[in-house]
Parts: sequence; C-alpha cells; structure tokens
Amino acid sequence: MTVSQQIPVATLGMPRIGRRRELKFALESYWSRKSSAADLLRTGKVLRASSWGEQHDRGVSKIPSNDFSLYDHVLDTAVMVGAVPSRYGWNGGEVPLDVYFAMARGNQGQTEDCEPTGHEHAADGPGVTAMEMTKWFDTNYHYIVPELDDDQSFTLSSAKPVDEFLEAKTLGIHTRPVLLGPITFLKLAKSPAEGFNPVALLPRLLPVYEQLLRRLKLAGADWVQIDEPALVLDLIPNERAAFESAYGQLSKAAPELKIMLATYFGGLEDNLETATSLPVAGLHVDLVRAPEQLEMAGRLAPKDVVLSLGLIDGRNVWRANLPAILDRIKPVVAGWSLDRVEIAPSCSMLHLPLDLRMETALDANISSWLAFAAQKTDELVVLAQALSQGRETVADVLKASTEAAAARATSAKVHDPLVEGRIAGIDDSMKQRKSAFAARSKVQASALSLPPFPTTTIGSFPQTSQVRKARSAHAKGELSYVDYDAFVKKEIETVVSWQEEVGLDVLVHGEFERNDMVQHFGEQLSGFAFTQHAWVQSYGSRYVRPPIIFGDVSRPNPMTVRWWQFAQSLTDKPVKGMLTGPVTILNWSFVRDDIPRSMACRQIALAIRDEVIDLERSGAKIIQIDEAAFREGLPLRKSEWKAYLDWAVECFRLASTAVDDATQIHTHMCYSEFNAIIDAIAELDADVISIETSRSKMELLDAFTSTKYPNEIGPGVYDIHSPRVPEVAEISALIMLARERLSDGQLWVNPDCGLKTRKWEDIRPALTNMVAAARALRKKVQAEGVSADAAHSRALF
Ligand code: GLN
Ligand code: ZN
Repeated sequence: MTVSQQIPVATLGMPRIGRRRELKFALESYWSRKSSAADLLRTGKVLRASSWGEQHDRGVSKIPSNDFSLYDHVLDTAVMVGAVPSRYGWNGGEVPLDVYFAMARGNQGQTEDCEPTGHEHAADGPGVTAMEMTKWFDTNYHYIVPELDDDQSFTLSSAKPVDEFLEAKTLGIHTRPVLLGPITFLKLAKSPAEGFNPVALLPRLLPVYEQLLRRLKLAGADWVQIDEPALVLDLIPNERAAFESAYGQLSKAAPELKIMLATYFGGLEDNLETATSLPVAGLHVDLVRAPEQLEMAGRLAPKDVVLSLGLIDGRNVWRANLPAILDRIKPVVAGWSLDRVEIAPSCSMLHLPLDLRMETALDANISSWLAFAAQKTDELVVLAQALSQGRETVADVLKASTEAAAARATSAKVHDPLVEGRIAGIDDSMKQRKSAFAARSKVQASALSLPPFPTTTIGSFPQTSQVRKARSAHAKGELSYVDYDAFVKKEIETVVSWQEEVGLDVLVHGEFERNDMVQHFGEQLSGFAFTQHAWVQSYGSRYVRPPIIFGDVSRPNPMTVRWWQFAQSLTDKPVKGMLTGPVTILNWSFVRDDIPRSMACRQIALAIRDEVIDLERSGAKIIQIDEAAFREGLPLRKSEWKAYLDWAVECFRLASTAVDDATQIHTHMCYSEFNAIIDAIAELDADVISIETSRSKMELLDAFTSTKYPNEIGPGVYDIHSPRVPEVAEISALIMLARERLSDGQLWVNPDCGLKTRKWEDIRPALTNMVAAARALRKKVQAEGVSADAAHSRALF
C-alpha cells in the first residue's frame, strides 16, 4: 500500500515454535546430544526469518524482534541482566547455552509434571536443580521464576535483543525489539530473603536497561516495545511509584528511541492514571478484556502519545467481527488524528496457534469461525486499512467477516436447545447433596467399611511406552478396535491385581485409555473440536493442543463407565470412578467468546453430572472428580476472585451432588497453596480431597486446620514428581505431621498426584512403603486406644 496516512499495524509478538514444531524437535535433539548447538541456533534463525518475512508480507509495519526465545522470555531476561543464581557456577561474561538450559531444566534435565497443561516441578536428584516455573499471568504458558537476592547485582550479560534486531536488519526488515519491562520482571521474581520485594532492586536494574536501550539505538532501532503486563495487576503505591521513576529514567536513556509501553491481560483500572502519565511515546492497551478503557486512555494520555489499540483477541482462536469492532471504536476515535493510533492484538500472539490453514481436517463451518495468529495478523491489517482508507477499500473482507459472525451466531452446530433448556432449568436443589457431610459420612463409613487411614492413589498408573504406542496405533487405525480393547483390558487386569496384592484399600483402573485428562473427555463431548497442528507453548519444549469449545456442550454417551465397570468386576475392593471436573476442562480449553465462561462451565458441569449419575447407577461407590486447574483460573485482580470462585464452586457442585449420601465424592488438586481459596474449597463439599503437600512437609495443611476444614483429606505423602522412593519411616513421619493438623478420622494416605509419569520400578516399592506406613499407624493407634475424635467418620476397628 502506498498511501501516505497508513495506520501502523503491530503484532506485539508471534508464536515461536514453528509451523511443524521445529523448535521442539531441535531442542530435544540438542538436549539428547544428537545435534550441535550450532544446529539448534540455526533452527532458531530460520524460524525468526520466516516469522519476520511472513509478517512483512502480510503488511505488518511494527514487526517485533526478540519475541523469539529458545525456552522462555523471562529466563532470557534473567540471563540478559546477569541474574544467574550462584549454583550454576557462572562467573560473568556471556551466559553459555548449557547454563541457560540448566537454569530451565536442571543439569540432569529432570523435570516432571502432572499434566503437560499444568503444574511443573523441578525434580530433586543429583546435579543442579532447575529454577522454579510458574504460570505467566492467567495464561497456560509457564515461565522460569527469576531468583533475586536482596543484594543482587545486575550486569548486561547478553546482547540478544540487539543481535536479533541486527539479524532482521540484515534481512532487510526493520523491527521493533520487544523487552520484558523491568518492573514486571522484578515483580515476577522470587527472593530467598524473607519478606523482600524484589521491586526494591529497581535502581540497580535500571542502568542495565539504559545501557541496552542505548545499544539498540546505536544499532538503528527507532522504537522499542517494553512489556509491562504488571500494570494490569493490583499494585501497591510503592510499585506505582516505581513505574514513574523507571520510565522517567528510561525515557531519557537514549534520545529519540521511542518506547511503546505495552500493557495487557486486562484493564489498567486504578493504574490507568499512572500509565498515561508516564513519559513514554506510546501506550498499548488491551481493548478485548477491557474495551471500556479506550475512551479513558484517549482522554488521559497526552495527544502526542501513540495509542496502540489491542482490538483483536490475542488469547483466543475466534475470528473477529471486524465491522462490529469498527463500529464500537468509531465514536471514540473519530476526533483523533490518525497518527495517534496503532492497531494491535490485545496481547502478544504467543498464546495462539500459528496458522489455521494447517487444519485441513476441521469441520468447514467451524473453521470459518476461527482465526489463528496468521489470520489475526490479516485482520489487524484490514482494521488499519478500514480506519485509514475507509471501509469501502476492504468492503469484501468486512462483508465476509460479518457473514461468518452471523452464521456462527445462528448455527445449529453451536446452539443446542436441549442444553440451553437444561441450563435454564438449573435450580438450587441441583447444587447440594441430600444430607450434610456429618450425616452422609456416617452412611459412607458403613457402606464402604474402610480401615482408618485408608490408602489410595490419584488415578493414573505409569503410561509406559507400550501403553502410548498402543493408543497411538489405535488412533491411527493400525491397531484394530478388538486388539486395542484387549490390550487395555490386560493393563487394567494387571494394575487391579497389583493394587490388591500391595494392599491398597481404594483402587483405580489406571487411566491407560486416556491421552490427556481434558482431551479424553472433550473428545467424547458434543461442542468440542480438536486440531491437528494447533500447538501452543506450555513451557519450554512442551506444547499443548487445547480443545476448542465451539458450541453447547452435552454428553451423548457414557464416557468412563465401561472401563470402570470392567475394573470393578475384577475386585471386591471399591474402584474409584475417575473424571475430570468442569472447571479444569474449561480452563485448559479455548473457550467460546459468545457466552460467558461461567455459562460454558455450567454446560460442562451438567455433562459431568450425567456421567456421575451413570457411574453411580452402575455401582460405583466412590467417584473422583479432578480439579487440577481450579486454582489456576483465579482472575488477576483480587476484586474479581469472588465472582470466579462463586461460579467455579457452583459448577463443581452441579457436577458432583446428584448422588446419594452413600456415594463418596473425591476431588484432587495437585497443589497445596489453598490459603486464599480455602473457603471455596470447603464449599465444594467433596467428601474427600487429595492435595499435594509432601514437599512442604505438610506446612501447607495449615490452611485446612485454621478454618476447620471438616471433610476428609488425603495430603500427599509420596512426592511423585521425584524418582526417589520414599522409605516407610519418611512416609510415617509425614503422616505424623499431618496428624498434628488434622484429626485421624479425616486422614487418607495417598501420593501427591497421578503416577502416569513415573516408572513401575519406582512406584512398586514406593506404594508398598506407603501401605506399610498406613498399616503401622493403624496398629499404633489401635494400641493407644481409639481417640474419640477419630471415630467421627469411620468405623474404627
Ligand atoms: N486422575 C489424574 C491422574 O491421576 C489426575 C491428574 C492431575 O491431577 N494432574 O493422572
Ligand atoms: Zn494432580
């Protein structure tokens, strides 16, 4: 386009992993020493070049550089400022690649997680441990947590932003380098010094950023994008003041290098005045999550500040209704001069799959309602064109956009009157058990006649390579239904008889038929679509393909009954029915944007409720509903927590309360920081909750005692994230610590999480020891005499 007044288009950041997951394969090949560092770096270079080239061809004018990372951009930033913890033995100078990866993965590369979508833990073991990893804001991307001492010093230790700027320049592409802002970086860090807020290190950090900005300017940059998503969080006055001093200083670092300060993942709200008063040349605002801030930002920001309008959803996969967006912003921007505006996605497109054109097997209707990063880039260009040249210059595209939106709004694939009717029919009686816990726990005690301190596992048993091979051969049609079925049966037989042999009290079927705890259910529910190539980065080289919830959700057929039934037929001990909860299914999927999240969650809850009823009818006495992502869904702002927790609790209860008093409902959450949400956890009113506590030495159980959590609890006494086999004495000691906080009648004995990532060699002795510890305790307690308190829920002896 050779028009004078073209509004700039920015993408803020693109997916890094490549169309065919090239980065993953290059990393894994390097880690297993099958290829050299040079090979890995070359792959990175090719991926960057293709991303820049493609954005350029699509008409993006503010093309980002330094949005690429071999592992994680927060880790890159830590390395860039020389914040390398001493255990990695780095003595200054450029940080070697192997130190970088040791920080990410430990130098044994030993990290384990429960779910690729979920929680990650550095495993103990010989060698240097990895740094911690945690969720990036409210996304399912995980970053490496910087570790900063209270006497931390910083030095510019990597020229990555400059190098990548020059790399693009050599290709003839002028980029706008992206940096993680100093305050967000510090806010995401943790410190070994107790009570120390790393934001206090700002004065030491700023000179490094100043130096970097000067080098970027020298290299030819005219703009730099500095990401400060911390501006959408609840900030304390000190932190707000830190923004003022930081940007006061940085804006003077390199004259004529302009700063685009990017905020995203929500509204600025009480930080809006701070953000609009900073001496920066541009401000990016998220207008998808917080459309209302457009008018305010326009009014508060000085007229010479470029406003980057985050109009296209960078967090979800839906095609935009472009004319509707234009109509919405028109009254506000009508009076603005065009050079005040830039068009952008709400946030970096890192969290999106790359290109919808790869999905050749998707339903054509559904496909016509979607847009991935490449398609969203085109949408940005069209918006900019419509604003600067007039809508008529892109009339065809706008018309197609409206038509797709209209088709989706009325499609029978999306709207199921039966589901919508059921939702309208929800009443309070569907959200509570027949009797209160105190009463029903007695009924359960006599129905189940479990020993005190009952032993169980969380659900999955090792997913051996054989199991994975059989499943994928079946999925590809290489293994017949009959043969696959026979295989799964054999696995279940083995695992049930092994659990009996070792003496566990409540058994599981082992989850051998499941690929992923969300996908397995999504594939059997109506309203869910699955992709072939739509991978998004979860952390490092781990990518996930979240299901896309496109329509009203229902459960046409029972999903888990058959395998549960088979497992139960093999034993007299109770086998738990095993389900993933509605909140977790929602939080690990791309969710519809045409109804509230709470509504989509209610629909899933009703589908799970149907399954719970079918399991109970088939004879299941215990049903576990996993909510691994319950806490993950907490909004960024405290003021929004209550609303989330209210509907999340409601959905769990909708899913779980249809059963009789005698049926025991379990839930599992693989983390242990419950302090902030303990009331909501109690309100779930599950009969038993299993949680992770072994590594904190049960300290995190304090939440459960202080509020007098009344129901039963299985605090994990075997840390499954480590290959180490715990001794009986160690497990006993953990149980004794738990007994200091809970009553005996409340206590279950179980591992921290599912065993799918473990090996049989580890779990055989570990579970044997766990059962021995529980048995020894039963003996001891019996010898001491039954405490009155312990008798409350279980028939003791
Ligand atoms: N039941 C699941 C399993 O054992 C739970 C997984 C999880 O909580 N992440 O694998
Ligand atoms: Zn778990």
